[in-house]
Amino acid sequence: MKFQQPLETTTIDSLKGVGPKMLEKLAKLHLHNLGDLLLHLPLRYQDKTRIAPIDSLLVGVEAQTEGTIISQTMTRGGRNSLLVVIQSDSGACITLRFFHYHFRQAQSFTRGKTLRVFGEVRSGPNGLEMVHPSYQFVNLEKPPALETTLTPVYPTTEGLGQASLIKLIDQALKSLEINPLPEMLPAGLLDEVQLPSLQDAIRTLHQPQASDDLVAIKQFKHPAQQRLILEELISQQIGLQQLRQQEQKCLAPKFPSSQKVNELLASLPFSLTGAQQRVLAEIQQDLQQTHPMQRLVQGDVGSGKTVVAAIAAIQAAEAGFQVAVMAPTEILAEQHLHAFQEWLEPLEISVSWLNGRMKAAERRFRLAEIANGEAKIIVGTHALFQEAVNFNNLGLVIIDEQHRFGVHQRLALQQKGQSIVLEGEENIDTNPDETNLLESETLDGAEAQLADSANGYRKPGSNKEIEQNRLSEVHPHQLIMTATPIPRTLAMTAYGDLDLSIIDELPPGRKPIETAVMSNSKRFELMEHLYAKCKQGVQAYWVCPLIEESELLHAQASEVTATQFTDHWPDLRVGLVHGRLNGEDKARVMNAFKNHELDLLVATTVIEVGVNVPNSSLMIIENAERLGLAQLHQLRGRVGRGDKQSHCVLLYQSPLSATGKARLNIMRETNDGFVIAEEDMKIRGPGEILGTRQTGGLQLRIADLQRDAQWIPLAQEWAEKLLNSTPNVVDTLQQRWIGEKAEYRKA
Ligand code: ADP
Ligand code: MG
Repeated sequence: MKFQQPLETTTIDSLKGVGPKMLEKLAKLHLHNLGDLLLHLPLRYQDKTRIAPIDSLLVGVEAQTEGTIISQTMTRGGRNSLLVVIQSDSGACITLRFFHYHFRQAQSFTRGKTLRVFGEVRSGPNGLEMVHPSYQFVNLEKPPALETTLTPVYPTTEGLGQASLIKLIDQALKSLEINPLPEMLPAGLLDEVQLPSLQDAIRTLHQPQASDDLVAIKQFKHPAQQRLILEELISQQIGLQQLRQQEQKCLAPKFPSSQKVNELLASLPFSLTGAQQRVLAEIQQDLQQTHPMQRLVQGDVGSGKTVVAAIAAIQAAEAGFQVAVMAPTEILAEQHLHAFQEWLEPLEISVSWLNGRMKAAERRFRLAEIANGEAKIIVGTHALFQEAVNFNNLGLVIIDEQHRFGVHQRLALQQKGQSIVLEGEENIDTNPDETNLLESETLDGAEAQLADSANGYRKPGSNKEIEQNRLSEVHPHQLIMTATPIPRTLAMTAYGDLDLSIIDELPPGRKPIETAVMSNSKRFELMEHLYAKCKQGVQAYWVCPLIEESELLHAQASEVTATQFTDHWPDLRVGLVHGRLNGEDKARVMNAFKNHELDLLVATTVIEVGVNVPNSSLMIIENAERLGLAQLHQLRGRVGRGDKQSHCVLLYQSPLSATGKARLNIMRETNDGFVIAEEDMKIRGPGEILGTRQTGGLQLRIADLQRDAQWIPLAQEWAEKLLNSTPNVVDTLQQRWIGEKAEYRKA
């Protein structure tokens, strides 16, 4: 195997016909060298290998055809157009319609000449037509040759035509013959999966023969595509595993278990489920390592993730380190604050918080408390990311509902922990008894040396200084919790840099929520029913989702509903929360609801995430057909948290489309978040489910995580093999598939 990579370092300006302007446009498409060009794959193909007779043309299909010009007219009025009619020997006709044309051009279409055209066939006022087809005049004595391969259509950018791209890629393909792209996949693997070489795959996809299986290509099932997909997925897995390995090179403090954990467990009104215990054990194992934990805890709504996180927090605090607990919304942050206070303050662990709307004086006070280390557990929203926040010795970062944050923010926080702890080195040195950070006696030689450098005793002149610097960085442990049940294969890919724990069991005694689907025409009856229930002691949510993309209208809709209730039933205690309330008011209403001073909470989707009022057992969701399945599942998860039988009613606006109906039926049939997520992914595709995660340096060129999921385990296996055995291969693959995006990852 050769490791030099000629084409992948040859810049495009070495090709004929490429000037600075062209280079600029190519750069927009992230095309810089010949390797990039070769991997710039067509979106689809045009068949110019044959001439379809006019009478065989089908509407909606792109085709090449030929005929004799029988008329040429320019229409006036409305939109000017030039109409050219061509006719085949059999007498069938098709009209060519041009909206933009030069006078000269119009004149060139003289009767009797033969035209060969290519375009999409449409149905027009006078039968078949093509709008702005590409065309050429045919000299019947010497007809132009037909293409021998299908013509690719490339993704492109303004001012860069298909013809230019085709010419450039053609040149690149020619140099490929002399100067092959290095084959990075081991022969063993290619044999195993029976896929073609890189070389052959690339050639096939740029210039497929008319005999190639175009249907397979369209469906991304052609072996040439499968081969590239596999290579890209391997490369992606390598990237994720590298990210992980880099993190594993950093140091992290150790948190042994603590007596206070037992105290908490003894004080809880419940015992942990088997799943909670298992996941907790996995976390505790991580926290005893000298490398940062990177763990994703997945657990369906109501599975009890918070208490598991609180236990990890106790261990960190007991070891003398700070814990940042991050939630995506203020309501949720506030709830975590209360839960943590309730559990930890009796253990004499103080819980502080920070949010974006604090008054300046309080904010200063909180920031000082965080900076001097007095605040041990700090709960907050993204306010915790802000630059002004300086932790004293951050040891654990807990991120709840991670899909809301995305990979950028996660990396930002990791970085924050890093600079903070490094600044705090002094602190670590001067407080030796608070330092479970590094128990040198437990480390072997090499690690002990690194441990020394982490404590500030850097050995100068080491020829591995750079590597050591990395190794001496101290990062906090990371615990990420999500209620989005990501299908396993997808989790493996998108979160390949994280370990995965799943709480796959709900606390006992929970009764599955019963869900009904109802037309909006029954809205008033439903309101009456809700009132009667509330009079019997039930607490209910009424959710008015976003209908217009305007927060104002959104808030108004919920206000109108709240007023309808109070107008009809003045004795019903109704609260209202929406995004336009300030945080204090929001908190007041939420608390009143929690304390059962309110019967009904009318809300927008701000309550979607994490809100926990176990006594509430009825939820109405209006305009349910407009919400995604994952969101509906999250919303519905606000009930069914206690031991009461809970109900959810999904109201829809008629008429309901077939897919809308199918989706609401899924909600009615199952409470299982994984089933719902699978269905959701089928409807929306994985990109949306993962949110920013997908775009965070993980965008794929040809592979599709869902469509190509069957390759992921193999890709993971080979990524590991290659990483361990052939670093050069790894570098080339990363360069080839990720290129400039790799920089982001390393940042
Ligand atoms: P989520 O996983 O959705 O964040 P929470 O942590 O908010 O769930 O837990 C939901 C509710 O279940 C809370 O009221 C919590 O105190 C309670 N809970 C957690 N674990 C158990 C358990 N093992 N048995 C009974 N109730 C539990
Ligand atoms: Mg939660």
